[in-house]
Amino acid sequence: MAPVAKHYDYLVIGGGSGGLASGRRASAMYGKKVGIIESGPLGGTCVNVGCVPKKVTWNAADLAERIHDAKDYGFSIQHTAEFNWPYFKKKRDSYIHRLNGIYERNLSNDRVDYIKGRASFAGTNQVDVVDGSGSAISYTADKILIATGGRPFFPKLPGAEYGISSDGFFELEQQPKKVAVVGAGYIGVEMAGMFASLGSETHLLIRGDTVLRNFDPMIQEGITSHYENYLHINVHKRSGVTKVEKTESGSLKVYFCTRAAPTKDDPITDPVTDNSSSESVIEVDCLLWAIGRTPEVEDLKLDKAGLVIDIPLDKPAKKPFIPVDDFQNTSIPSVYALGDVTGKVELTPVAIAAGRRLADRLFGPPHLSNSKLNYEYIPSVVFSHPEVGTIGFSEPEARKKFGDENIKVYKTEFVGMYYAMMEPERKAKTRYKLIVNKADDERVVGLHIVGEGSAEILQGFGVAVKMGATKRDFDNCVAIHPTSAEELVTLR
Ligand code: FAD
Ligand code: NDP
Repeated sequence: MAPVAKHYDYLVIGGGSGGLASGRRASAMYGKKVGIIESGPLGGTCVNVGCVPKKVTWNAADLAERIHDAKDYGFSIQHTAEFNWPYFKKKRDSYIHRLNGIYERNLSNDRVDYIKGRASFAGTNQVDVVDGSGSAISYTADKILIATGGRPFFPKLPGAEYGISSDGFFELEQQPKKVAVVGAGYIGVEMAGMFASLGSETHLLIRGDTVLRNFDPMIQEGITSHYENYLHINVHKRSGVTKVEKTESGSLKVYFCTRAAPTKDDPITDPVTDNSSSESVIEVDCLLWAIGRTPEVEDLKLDKAGLVIDIPLDKPAKKPFIPVDDFQNTSIPSVYALGDVTGKVELTPVAIAAGRRLADRLFGPPHLSNSKLNYEYIPSVVFSHPEVGTIGFSEPEARKKFGDENIKVYKTEFVGMYYAMMEPERKAKTRYKLIVNKADDERVVGLHIVGEGSAEILQGFGVAVKMGATKRDFDNCVAIHPTSAEELVTLR
């Protein structure tokens, strides 16, 4: 048994978005004795291998697009402006390193103990921490928060290990000339977009006919066609990888099956097992898997805390998320969980908001004793090219929830003024959709936007939708001209 070093009011496992937010609030605002255990760099996925380095890279990709567009505005800029990937990466790494330092200082300012090492439960109220040297120390606490996030998921197929994940994307020292990205979700779409805009020949392999299949159909179709026709990404639809081989020169041969186009009544099947599939191969410098993430629970010895996840960890049929109720309670009274490890809306601001509310509820004044995060109407964006913004229900979801007869859809498709000066093949379409519930005074229950600046546009509209704005409220707001967003308050 490891010696017990210290007892805390609140011990947090995971120094990422949710854990830091919850631990700091408990200490700084409520004076609790808090320790945060982290085995990697402080800041977690978002700061080190997620939102932050991704957005910096997206900014570079966006600049590449602007440089391309500049010619149409009369600038004599070369279309083939060189991008110095190693220079950019070094600078991006230093920025992240600076942020790690700021996070550490914040913990010290808020009087939170920063415990470096890998944590596992030794009992319901006890956690062992193994540090870099291999020695273990134990800590006890009245309350323990699990905020261990997730990690990229790799498929089980021959040669899969030759591919990288989104973590590997941020380690690339050189820009691949030719890259294959597998996956149709947030990460696949964002990374394929960045590679393509920065000049890599990009292949995107997706199982369905469109990317972002959990989003409104307008977004699925808008981004898929934009990626094919405007960014010139080779989108291999209805395709599944069967094996990967490494050649002597170090390049990768990616073998994949493509199934025949589905008919209306033909449900989407797995391209790899579908009888109609034909086989192809592409040779690339880099293969990136972006087929989802899995919760980081294996090392935690959850059973020692009394927590049972009904999924075998070695062969998960489903992902072994930690189940929690609306208040982030697990099945053990003194143990809580939040963020990506719970599988509920995997976004940084969600983990932060859940973490702060949990600290308010556990340690705050009586009027906060029911504090919890409401997971409805959470805005989210995809940093694609152009960006996607979404809040509320997609059209199919809204029709199912509120009934066809109660749903009215307002939509528009136009070429924004930014593109007025462009050659026809660069004129990207902006697409907006509002979904309202006629049975509830035309309350806006879904807002979906694809186009320039969508990420910045969405935040304000998110406030309105969250407040329960109706179509009339939208109409009552005078438009700002000339913008693209004005179309959202003038829809007919
Ligand atoms: P994390 O931030 O992952 O933190 C968990 C921490 O726990 C990690 O630091 C880990 O090292 C530590 N840990 C795990 N197990 C142990 C253990 N046993 N002992 C000690 N420490 C442990 N979200 C957005 O909102 N916007 C974006 O633009 C965005 N972009 C993204 C881009 C990418 C490529 C990825 C991968 C994710 C992105 N996300 C984005 C999602 C966002 O990063 C996550 O939702 C968020 O980081 C989740 O926070 P968390 O606190 O649950 O976990
Ligand atoms: P997602 O769940 O968004 O997407 C993964 C996609 O991969 C699925 O939608 C699925 O698409 C496809 N897929 C799943 N299994 C396979 C398989 N075996 N073979 C081929 N394709 C497969 O996960 P991501 O990893 O992209 O991102 C994880 C989470 O991180 C996101 O859900 C999001 O919450 C967060 N994130 C947020 C960002 C942001 O806010 N901008 C950016 C990046 C990540 P299909 O069913 O169509 O095949």
